[in-house]
Amino acid sequence: MAKLPIITVPNPLLKTVSAPVEEVDDNLRSLMDDMLDTMYAAPGIGLAAVQVGRPIRLLVMDVSEEDQEKNPQYFVNPVITWTSDELATYNEGCLSVPEQYADIDRPAECKISYLDYHGTEHNIHATGIFATCFQHEMDHLNGIVFIDYLSPLKKSIAVRKVKKLVKEEE
Ligand code: ZN
Repeated sequence: MAKLPIITVPNPLLKTVSAPVEEVDDNLRSLMDDMLDTMYAAPGIGLAAVQVGRPIRLLVMDVSEEDQEKNPQYFVNPVITWTSDELATYNEGCLSVPEQYADIDRPAECKISYLDYHGTEHNIHATGIFATCFQHEMDHLNGIVFIDYLSPLKKSIAVRKVKKLVKEEE
């Protein structure tokens, strides 16, 4: 397993719509392992393949609490099949927008279908932080980053801060 570099805004790749995964094979599982390592090392609770420069419909997540056992989850070709009318607000952040946070409203619950690490199909009902994180990661597959929901002014400030931060780290 290996840690992969995470791309940050305003990298244009983050605006691309990711392509469906053709097959869940060992190559893909190796990428899933690397993505999980990368996410844990960051640290983060979700990561989309496009964030490590691979625009395919693949996500990894772990929303377990710090004092709980790790619970890595893999989502291949995920689809949201239903969202609740009720909304929930979370203070979101993103590994591609380091150190920037904003309150974002999203449906509080959603139903999703996806293939897992072994290519088995699942249909689940997501609630709480899991539902929020999942929708945030799904957005990445459609070329959307959470700061796209902010006003143009707030968004440009966030992008400018990230550019400065990335430059300082180089
Ligand atoms: Zn993100």
